[in-house]
Amino acid sequence: MRTVILRLGHRIQRDQRITTHVALTARALGAEGMLLHSDDSGIEKSIIEVARRWGGTFYVRRITNWKNEIRKWKESGGKVLHLTMYGVNLPDVINEIVTDDLLVVVGAEKVPPELYTLADWNVAAGNQPHSEVAALAIVLDRLAAASGTEPLKSQFSGGEVEIVPKSRGKEVREK
Ligand code: SAM
Repeated sequence: MRTVILRLGHRIQRDQRITTHVALTARALGAEGMLLHSDDSGIEKSIIEVARRWGGTFYVRRITNWKNEIRKWKESGGKVLHLTMYGVNLPDVINEIVTDDLLVVVGAEKVPPELYTLADWNVAAGNQPHSEVAALAIVLDRLAAASGTEPLKSQFSGGEVEIVPKSRGKEVREK
């Protein structure tokens, strides 16, 4: 499944760190890239730097019209999953989420109410408030498990360095 994240409601002063974490988590769990509804160029810069050093092709693209992006995504046959604590709890809907192209919408501040009708699925990672980073990780992991793939084994070609996994200590190898 091809997965792209749409980050809505990013506040430049307040959300920089958490939006960066949304992008890093999406990348680590095999998503293709993130559309950022903001003119904050800082996130894009830090993710380009991560990709330069650690490899892979994950991208951040700033957008100005989120509804247009959703419309284009759906016109090309993709589906939209909005992550919200008010949605249907993930274990109750996971078997219905079948698509080759999934846009996962993650909010920061309150999202526009229209999103609830535009989304194909409004999904909660448990119906309690918590973090968008945690919600995204749970959803990407459960969707991967449902389709029999292992997102933690995502490949990141290129880059300058890679970790040599060890049971103790740290080893980073130059490529
Ligand atoms: N105050 C905002 C509001 O009223 O919509 C929500 C803030 S919340 C920390 C930011 C984002 O985290 C939400 O838009 C949603 O995408 C995600 N989120 C938080 N808890 C969630 C949950 N239990 N399930 C799914 N997504 C969740």
